[in-house]
Amino acid sequence: MLIKCFKCQSTISDRAVSCPYCGVEISYNYRTQYRAYIKSPISEKFHPKSWLLESLLLVLASVLLFTIWCLPFAVASCIYANRVEGLWKSGDIDGAILASEKAGKYYKIGLWIGIGTWIIIILIFCLLIILILINIWH
Ligand SMILES: [Zn+2]
Repeated sequence: MLIKCFKCQSTISDRAVSCPYCGVEISYNYRTQYRAYIKSPISEKFHPKSWLLESLLLVLASVLLFTIWCLPFAVASCIYANRVEGLWKSGDIDGAILASEKAGKYYKIGLWIGIGTWIIIILIFCLLIILILINIWH
């Protein structure tokens, strides 16, 4: 199956891990999504995930849950997510898939930093309670 390189627009194999013409890395996700697109040429059937709702929720969570260091990733995710729909409608299939992939990547990084932060906060909180309880008993 033949897909298009998102950087130099060359036609390449869907099994190539990098573009033989410009050398850019072609991710597994990009190839999978492009294959799904080729298999269903009707654009309504297949659509790259926009991540818009997820990234907006992450921005909100970053601000409300005091995990402000997630915010740069959430904002980056929003910016890419915002491009997906427009690129897709203008017929820029590879651009839309790439934007979707980047939005998803930044969203996941931001999300895990947020979750990680809260796990650490909860662990410290539990430790404090244990220390207080030990002190009360003695
Ligand atoms: Zn290329």
